[in-house]
Amino acid sequence: MKCSKCHRDAVIFQRYSGLHLCGDHFVQDVEAKARRAIRKHHWIQSGDRVAVALSGGKDSSAVLYFLQTLLRKRRDTELFAVTIDEGIRGYRDPACAAGVAASLGVECVCASFTELFGITLDEIVRKRGDALSCSYCGVMRRTALNMVAREHGATRLALGFNLDDEAQSVLMNVLRGDVDRLVRQMQPVPGLVPRIKPFINVPEREVALYAFMRVEGFDFSGCPYAHNALRADVRSLLNSYAYRHPATKNALVNLGENLSHPETTETASQAGMTTCERCGEPCGGVCRTCQIMDEVRRYA
Ligand code: SF4
Repeated sequence: MKCSKCHRDAVIFQRYSGLHLCGDHFVQDVEAKARRAIRKHHWIQSGDRVAVALSGGKDSSAVLYFLQTLLRKRRDTELFAVTIDEGIRGYRDPACAAGVAASLGVECVCASFTELFGITLDEIVRKRGDALSCSYCGVMRRTALNMVAREHGATRLALGFNLDDEAQSVLMNVLRGDVDRLVRQMQPVPGLVPRIKPFINVPEREVALYAFMRVEGFDFSGCPYAHNALRADVRSLLNSYAYRHPATKNALVNLGENLSHPETTETASQAGMTTCERCGEPCGGVCRTCQIMDEVRRYA
């Protein structure tokens, strides 16, 4: 097929837009979507020091490449990468993430669950079994990224979340009946580095193609515990529905954005956010990471 915008060969067909795109027009389309999302949400401003949560996989490597391209000529913003080693054997070698950052000329700060919490995810799984691996890992990684980004002066934390991830999150909140998460907006919380998601409107397969076209050396390995994620069920349900109704993922992301009204914006204290009495991270009461550490110690 030929590109709908020029006469070159197309590399992708977008079912939701009906467009065939060649390599150049595809890259322009991805980057335009990401720039629009940043503008719409006022995600990057003059003076910002942006940390990219870099796992070394396709999504985070693509975001790092895009932001490096976007910000490299600006003198009023800074960019660096943060890599967290969860301690999962055979998965996410931090050297791979560091290599991606180095190839783009971006500083990369690495930290591990062992350094931050004194235990690896594999050790937690040995003690507790693997049914809760993703719940524990997600909470601990969020805490770790926030701690390291904040310690290195970040004012924004960029995540590799794509359209599929965001649509899945909205659907998961609907399926759980979690009205709070659907409607609540939160004012900035002291100690919590605000998160940004430049690829929130770019489908996962387009982020993957963008990464293949623009980034070298990213990691293909899959996490051995991925089958435990609730997200895996929601992903397959949503993918099979969206195959017949291609605009579904965009509709879910729009639903999530439209439901979180400014009128429902809460201050940190209204939302019960304080700092953890043990580790000092922002939370309501004792933070979930400290609770996980208590649970794990009981199984020593
Ligand atoms: Fe962590 Fe689960 Fe993701 Fe593996 S699949 S990295 S255990 S959240």
